[in-house]
Amino acid sequence: MFDAVVRDEAALKAALAEADVAPMLMVLAQLSGDLEILGEVAPHIHGAWSFLESVPEDLKQKVRERLVAVLRDYAASGREPPRHIPSETLQKMMSAGVGQTVPEEYIPLLVEETRLGDEDTRSVHWQRDPERLPIRNFKVIIIGAGFAGLCAGIRLKELGIPFVILEKNQDVGGTWLENVYPGCAVDTPNHFYSYSFNPNDKWSRHFSRRDEILAYIVATTDKYGLRQDIRFGAEVTTAEFDEPEACWHVTFRTADGTTQAVTGNAVISAVGQLNRPSIPPIAGLPLFHGPVFHTARWDRTVDLRGKRVAMIGTGASAVQAGPSIAPDAARLLVFQRTPHWLMNNPNYHKEVSAGNKWAIEHIPYFGKWLRFQLFWAGSDGFHASLQMDPDWPMPDNSLNEANYKMRELIIDYVRKELDDDKELLAKVIPAYPPYGKRMLRDNYWYRMLKRPNVELVTGSISYITEDSIVMEDGTVHQVDVVIMATGFQASKMLWPMDIRGRNGRTIRGIWGDDDPRAYLGITVPGFPNLFLTYGPNTNLAHGGSIIFHTECQVRYITQAVREMIENSYTTLEVRTDVHDGYNKLVDEKCRNMVWAHPGVTSWYKNRHNRVTVTSPWRLLDYWKLTQHFVPEEYRAGRSGHTPLIPGQEAGAIFSVDQLTVG
Ligand code: NAP
Repeated sequence: MFDAVVRDEAALKAALAEADVAPMLMVLAQLSGDLEILGEVAPHIHGAWSFLESVPEDLKQKVRERLVAVLRDYAASGREPPRHIPSETLQKMMSAGVGQTVPEEYIPLLVEETRLGDEDTRSVHWQRDPERLPIRNFKVIIIGAGFAGLCAGIRLKELGIPFVILEKNQDVGGTWLENVYPGCAVDTPNHFYSYSFNPNDKWSRHFSRRDEILAYIVATTDKYGLRQDIRFGAEVTTAEFDEPEACWHVTFRTADGTTQAVTGNAVISAVGQLNRPSIPPIAGLPLFHGPVFHTARWDRTVDLRGKRVAMIGTGASAVQAGPSIAPDAARLLVFQRTPHWLMNNPNYHKEVSAGNKWAIEHIPYFGKWLRFQLFWAGSDGFHASLQMDPDWPMPDNSLNEANYKMRELIIDYVRKELDDDKELLAKVIPAYPPYGKRMLRDNYWYRMLKRPNVELVTGSISYITEDSIVMEDGTVHQVDVVIMATGFQASKMLWPMDIRGRNGRTIRGIWGDDDPRAYLGITVPGFPNLFLTYGPNTNLAHGGSIIFHTECQVRYITQAVREMIENSYTTLEVRTDVHDGYNKLVDEKCRNMVWAHPGVTSWYKNRHNRVTVTSPWRLLDYWKLTQHFVPEEYRAGRSGHTPLIPGQEAGAIFSVDQLTVG
């Protein structure tokens, strides 16, 4: 492990000269046990982001030299790194690395997320002798081959549980396959926007572009041998629970238009929240003569060069697409109904330095400590400041003092970006508190607004004609192309699938169009053996990465499936009182959080202002809530029939109704 690092000492030293000091310091402390150096460097680390340090060069050099010496020593002695670091020491190391006290309660979560320990604690293991369990007779149907569906497949595979993934597209990737708009990229730091069990040493950027993320998903699919388990071009239309047989019948439309069916003991939905575009019903839209398309259905055949382009919406998609197309378009008219808050991150456009890349790839633990830092930077730090203070004197524009300070800080940044252009400033500064809508990262958005060929149009659109967008005040904007950056039908979860549980009750009948609820966002009474990922109130809006949440949900679901198999349960259904109690708590918590602010409209809420999409929990809370499946919260059944679906041959990948997979 260490031989390779010191073999080319020149390369090691060159990398260290460029690599971030905090992860370097962590590795040094971990391998040497030297906590004194932590104390020396810690006062110069002011936050978890790499740009928040002022470590003097001579001190950095000391860290580098000591690290080289320690690595050499490990290589020469053949010693293994310490297997166990006491919690107290870890806390000291972590706190030094991010320039603030990391509370003790976070340490197990951080150790798990960064895989500091040898064990993958998100992997589920059998509690009974698997040789004696009818594992191969249990079938799981996963809907969707994006990040969540693949994660579920990987975890079920580890346990040898048969599954099939039904994917409507012709390849894996979900949202990362579908979104091809120019500028599409992740706005969560990549080094933790990736599976904890499959970190990527080679991210080229801190916030990588869409193609690179898709390539990572494809590589993960192949690494875990999942392709054979995926049925591509299979769009699920219905899922119906069969009470007598205690199984789910799932029908899907194939690419050639035929309908096929598959039956399984359990269904895992991994369809995401953000893949059914929302096209506002603007009068006259169908009359428009030129191309009209949604950001998530980008028409690559349309050449925007020299065109007058209208982009409706200013959310995350628009903020990435706009600056990418502005240089090409003759004119870009941005139609803003409500402004968003955008924050600056100096790493947003940066490539990962060669030194960091080398260190991540070669120096043991460097990548793990980097992941720790970034996870911490984007975790629960803002959570407390997103709660409304009932005594706060400026409740319209902020929630509390911290939120107000953040507001002022961002305004200051925007003012500089806009060269103090007061007219533009008045248009782009939201009236509502920061974080009310999704906090966006500035992708040179304000600089784009300063371009001579870009116009920010505010106010409401009245109607569209064959060549124009007409505003309510009567202003007419002639355009050649209309881009809908208008978001998704997030609250209409699981739509357009028709999902029927016990007694033929449909999920739409229970949730209505936009009022979804589930226990932990995962299970719904009346829908036994149905498990959701990225379900109601599980979107993250204060920090974190949706992949972290996915892994929490998949661990929980895998434990539930294990519970069924080990106990020969044919059904597992969350208790109504447990579900209702949980949702009451979620609603209470959400009511006090920024996204429920009366001045905010967003996809986080339904039309009755109930927050349906976003989680009120700290990452730590949700991690704890989903860490252990609690059987007592469920009603388990063993129907009179054989508990497992009859007629399935052990060892078959998954074959029901002549379905062949692959
Ligand atoms: P969005 O945040 O829902 O934004 C939709 C935009 O369309 C809003 O500005 C909205 O205005 C506007 N709009 C809707 N109907 C309109 C109408 N009739 N007239 C004028 N404007 C209208 O959608 P999004 O930008 O696609 O982002 C959705 C989510 O996807 C994000 O919040 C994020 O979670 C995810 N996403 C992530 C990334 C990333 O990580 N890189 C990139 C893109 C998207 P109002 O604000 O006034 O409603």
